[in-house]
Amino acid sequence: MQQDQTLERNPSNSARVYRNYIAGRWVDAADGRRLAIPDPSDGSHLADIARGSSEDVDRAVQAARAALAGEWGRLSATERGRILHRIGEGVLKNIDLLTELEARDVGKPLKQARADVEALARYCEFYGAAADKVHGDTIPYRSGFTALTIYEPHGVTAHIIPWNYPMQIIGRSLGAALAMGNAAVVKPAEEACLTVIEFTRIAEEAGLPAGALNLVTGTGEEAGAALSSHPGINHISFTGSVTTGGLVQAAAARNAVPVTLELGGKSPQVVFADADLDRALPFLVMAGIQNAGQTCSASSRILVERSVYEEVASRMADAYRKLKVGPALSDLDVGPVVSRRQKDIVEGYIALAERGGARLAAQGTIVPDAPAGGAYVTPTLIRDVPPSHRLAQEEIFGPVQVIMPFDGEQQAIELANGTPFGLVCGIWTSDGGRQLRLARAIQSGQIFINNYGAGGGIELPFGGVKRSGHGREKGFEALYGFATTKTISIYHG
Ligand code: NAD
Repeated sequence: MQQDQTLERNPSNSARVYRNYIAGRWVDAADGRRLAIPDPSDGSHLADIARGSSEDVDRAVQAARAALAGEWGRLSATERGRILHRIGEGVLKNIDLLTELEARDVGKPLKQARADVEALARYCEFYGAAADKVHGDTIPYRSGFTALTIYEPHGVTAHIIPWNYPMQIIGRSLGAALAMGNAAVVKPAEEACLTVIEFTRIAEEAGLPAGALNLVTGTGEEAGAALSSHPGINHISFTGSVTTGGLVQAAAARNAVPVTLELGGKSPQVVFADADLDRALPFLVMAGIQNAGQTCSASSRILVERSVYEEVASRMADAYRKLKVGPALSDLDVGPVVSRRQKDIVEGYIALAERGGARLAAQGTIVPDAPAGGAYVTPTLIRDVPPSHRLAQEEIFGPVQVIMPFDGEQQAIELANGTPFGLVCGIWTSDGGRQLRLARAIQSGQIFINNYGAGGGIELPFGGVKRSGHGREKGFEALYGFATTKTISIYHG
């Protein structure tokens, strides 16, 4: 008999208890350990999760392997797609529960958390519909031969997920992997993983066969490292920091396992004097403070042509002064950052605001009734930041933006390209030729012209260049990343 995943509570403090999900069963960590999860809005004890170890990871990999040889592996692509559709419907049925849980766990204002649930459902819909649309080629070859390619799943795919967008990232990565017929082992981040656990329950209820999706929670150093070095894994999709991405890629290399790395960014928006500033302004600010700036594709650098620099800086400063920060469930502009540790890191950067030529332009306000135990950071706009300043070079991952002037297209391109990252870039100009010249010259996985969608659409391939990573997720292209091409040549005379 399965234990009820949704009702159990820690008897000493009534925090909810969440287990691992392996081979279709909700199970404690093999050694029984748990981790306490705090609520970043007030520091209270939100939940307990299993603290998985290499033994749990090993069981999960075996379960995924067995699923490939069993019911899951025998399903047609159309049947896999139908299951993904049902999972998406289940996500929407649970939208209120998932919204509130994500808000509490990540510290995300409710409307932002709700948008993430809708995105998760849409990923299931998109990849459900795409599952039976991927097909290979027949290739003109020698006389007497027929040659063709087919796409096969890698096998067991590992999905290592960060804490900032657990639902969106599980949606894009798992959706494509399951559509292609892989069996997955998911390791979400210890800071925020509760919606990934609820999503797993929803997938189970939607009829996903046992072992197709296995979930091991715990720390990166234990469960994450065990997963990325496991010899039974055939592919890794990693989303997280550059440092950890390097560790994961090195571990995978020992087993010759392919890796998709979705890493960090220092994404610019480049604003020319001929841009529609009224349209641009909300995008410039929102792309920096959404999810308290904890977005890989956050636009943390605003580059502005000098003739409109003062106007843009002053209008952005006005917008910053109106920003309100408070508990996630109050649904203000900005919630807390994910943890006290993250707050300390971001505030360390804000302390640099008046150094090296930079100047503090404006800040938002933390509401007076924000609980003292919450991880609140004041949104901060910093101007005149020299290009080599740490604030202009390093990913801050908090509600902090820098604004810098430039003169002419060439300097705009040099500044835009002048960091180790290349994830997303926004270009604001009404000159069609300039739009394309910059779109081609700027080193970035994704370019937005006269708009900026942090993360972009579900249908659009997404990923980085340079230190922002390699490989593409989202869109149709992701499906090929979760498959391997088999070439068959037949001699028939
Ligand atoms: P992180 O690298 O600390 O952790 C990411 C995941 O890796 C977590 O699940 C963690 O437990 C695990 N992990 C940690 N150490 C590990 C190890 N040694 N081996 C294997 N796994 C390990 O990143 P984070 O702080 O959770 O996330 C923030 C970072 O993620 C930022 O740099 C952000 O830009 C990036 N990010 C990128 C994208 C993208 O699509 N490009 C999306 C979201 C976040």
